[in-house]
Amino acid sequence: MKEIILIKDGELALKGLNRSSFEDILIKNMKEKLRPVGEFRFRKAQSTVTVEPADEDTDMDEAVERLQKVFGIVGISRCAVCEKDIDAITRLAPEYLEDDLLCARTFKVTAKRADKKFPLNSPQICNEVGGAILSRFPRLKVDVHEPEVTVTVEIRDTAAYIHGRQLKGAGGMPSGTGGRVCLLISGGIDSPVAGYMLAKRGVRLTAVHFASPPYTSELAEMKVHELLGRVAEYSGRINLFTVPFTELQVAIKDNCPEEMFTVTMRRVMMKLATKIADWQGCSALVTGESLGQVASQTLHAIKCTDECAGMPVFRPCIGMDKNEIVEISRKIDAFDISIRPYEDCCTVFTPRHPRTRPTPEYAREVEAMLPNEEEMLQRAFDGAKLKIIE
Ligand code: ATP
Ligand code: MG
Repeated sequence: MKEIILIKDGELALKGLNRSSFEDILIKNMKEKLRPVGEFRFRKAQSTVTVEPADEDTDMDEAVERLQKVFGIVGISRCAVCEKDIDAITRLAPEYLEDDLLCARTFKVTAKRADKKFPLNSPQICNEVGGAILSRFPRLKVDVHEPEVTVTVEIRDTAAYIHGRQLKGAGGMPSGTGGRVCLLISGGIDSPVAGYMLAKRGVRLTAVHFASPPYTSELAEMKVHELLGRVAEYSGRINLFTVPFTELQVAIKDNCPEEMFTVTMRRVMMKLATKIADWQGCSALVTGESLGQVASQTLHAIKCTDECAGMPVFRPCIGMDKNEIVEISRKIDAFDISIRPYEDCCTVFTPRHPRTRPTPEYAREVEAMLPNEEEMLQRAFDGAKLKIIE
């Protein structure tokens, strides 16, 4: 039996005249995602895209699973392709949807007749198909208001499609329609989630990670690679720059008051990230900060760090509680990696009593205690190493 996948692209409908170019990008992204599974043909039709395998032996489970990680898709339905003949349709529908129908108590049939030349109208199609399902599964009841399974029959130009449950897509906008941002990624729970959330809005990601060997280990860097791998399953390729941060961090420890270690470190991080973001053509920075979560994330501290960024800083987790962030982290399969216990540079020289209400004036004064800051920033920037995460 031949199967295809029907893709519903939700928010693209809002794009008016740009719709077609957004859809083209979505199709390109789907093609890329499905390349390891096989060859597919794509066709745009109204607010759906049909995805048809070139080969009937294609692993459709794998294809659907991969498409669920493509942004810009709202719903995914796997369909049986049937000849446009009502007997063939009534035979195939109960058989194709057997698994869904066996465990349901109620169902309904809807019909869409794009081909107006088909001899039966929509209510007649529903009647025929509904009757065939009832005689095969006599325990089922029809419920037109809240059915557990909706069987849809679509009569299109070339064939009839039969489908059951619609799976949820990843939502958002297709990757590559929204420009590029620079994600500051640690090995924690929040920043991978922040990257995922921006990627969901169609932007491409460049990532920056600050490493402080020997205080931080290679395992911590591997963890960041793995985390970005999980995000990249949705966002596509990520360019990661790992920046040597030890010299700056030690200079902060040796020259600044302990209560300001973290804020000063974060100011310097913002400056370096801005340098890399500019160089890589990014329009904004992204962090995993959540208001009040730790001393460096109070409003006062954020005001002190924000002024060091030369571009907008997006903090998609800012209003979320930890458990809400964890929920997304689990959804993208990042959580188990994030909780591995390696040191991040943020946890290396943690002050015992960080100042929770620093002022920008004081923060600037403290930062000015660093000797040769510009040179250190330049050395760190020059030492950045690129790794491509696919
Ligand atoms: P996360 O869970 O993302 O580590 P966090 O709650 O532990 O966040 P902090 O450690 O204070 O918070 O870091 C706040 C934000 O600063 C992080 O979300 C991340 O965007 C950025 N950041 C922290 N450490 C690093 C690092 N080593 N490299 C790059 N960015 C970092
Ligand atoms: Mg952290």
